[in-house]
Amino acid sequence: MRRSLPALLLLCLPVTALAGRRPAPPPLAPDVRAQAAVLLGRSLASDEPWRELTQLADDVGPRLSGSEALNRAITWAAERMRDDGLTVTLEPVDVPVWVRGEEQGTILSPVADQLPLLGLGWTVATPPEGIDADVLVVASFDELTARAAEAKGRIVVFDVPFTTYGDTVKFRWAGPEAAAKVGAVAVLVRSVSPESLSTPHTGSTHYADGVPKIPAAAITLEDATRLHRWQESGKTPRLHLKLSGEDKGTAPSFNVVGELRGRERPNEVVVIGGHLDSWDVGQGAQDDGAGCVASMAALDQLAALPVHPRRTVRVVLFTNEEDGGAGGKAYAAAHANERIVYAIEDDTGAGVPLGFQVEAHTADEADDPNRATQVMSALAPWRDLLTPLGADKLSLGHSGADVGPLLAHGTIGFGLEHDMSGYWRVHHTEADTLDKIDPMMVRRNAAALTVFTWLLAETPELFDGTRPLQAQP
Ligand SMILES: [Zn+2]
Repeated sequence: MRRSLPALLLLCLPVTALAGRRPAPPPLAPDVRAQAAVLLGRSLASDEPWRELTQLADDVGPRLSGSEALNRAITWAAERMRDDGLTVTLEPVDVPVWVRGEEQGTILSPVADQLPLLGLGWTVATPPEGIDADVLVVASFDELTARAAEAKGRIVVFDVPFTTYGDTVKFRWAGPEAAAKVGAVAVLVRSVSPESLSTPHTGSTHYADGVPKIPAAAITLEDATRLHRWQESGKTPRLHLKLSGEDKGTAPSFNVVGELRGRERPNEVVVIGGHLDSWDVGQGAQDDGAGCVASMAALDQLAALPVHPRRTVRVVLFTNEEDGGAGGKAYAAAHANERIVYAIEDDTGAGVPLGFQVEAHTADEADDPNRATQVMSALAPWRDLLTPLGADKLSLGHSGADVGPLLAHGTIGFGLEHDMSGYWRVHHTEADTLDKIDPMMVRRNAAALTVFTWLLAETPELFDGTRPLQAQP
């Protein structure tokens, strides 16, 4: 329906009323502002991204790297973007493949009970019969060091409360290495989440060279704290663990790229996207199906305009974000000689959109806050266009794991920021399913991405991706 709207309608908008009156920096061209308002309205009226998210979640399902489901997701996404009239390319990426296999956790004493768990991504297997061992619970790496003599032959449990994701995820990532160094036979980490309804959260871990690889899994907050309480009361819990994780080498995969060629500056590119792969539990609805469909919706809206934006816009649906990051790295390497001026990532869920975080790097991948601050100043006159969505916050921050590798080439990175109050409780769990997502939020996120992408793609000169330029009316 959207496409049949006559172009005349756009020309009839009272553009002078929308032009703004700021003396400096000069306002955006009135037609750019008017078009942004039209795009916002159309995005909010479209249920296409929700329908697509339903297909991806229910009909494709969880899609770990190397799985048949991820291949189906790639085919599905390419077809959807061809339907939207985009030029679609599948860019080959070899991805590492890990499979979970059978998993079981049991509390043997002080009381017999189940121990729900999820193996961490890249965990090795236990012996086929499993492991029976006593537990040592610690609340930090320092405590593990202090109690190293007690760890030998035990299952080390890291019971570390969530503070920030960045701080807490260290125990999931480096816990197996630290526990193996002191002779532990396996490691369990309290799930990286501030809250829980008895839900274990998976996520990648890694092993260091020269250190034994021990099986590693996440347990629930409820069980981590219960084990801890038993230990503090003088008991020594004993567990049975069985994990079957297996490294399967590599498999061919693809980044899915849909392109709308710029009408005036086709060699300047704006990338928007998220990751199409997910963990093998739940449906990958929030992480990151929601980001994929919002990105696709944004480019679909731009493709439906009577004329293309000035710059080329590409949706990139990255592969292998969750357990390797090969898609993001491969994309940056393959396009290193192009002028990708801006890249926006949508990979923090489907909560209320709040605005955009801005990130700039130097060539050696150090943060460049001065450049990012200049970008924020240049963007300030646009903020009011996102105010109706509540998405007008601009802040220094992070873009995302997949567009991050582009930043060393001078690309300015943006991360769509969401209210994440409902995010962590389902992150990387069986509960990351469609029912947790509000369809209206999918529309609002798609609208925020659409308007912001339009501004980046259409504004003639604001900054060139490497240094701020003088804003022009
Ligand atoms: Zn994600």
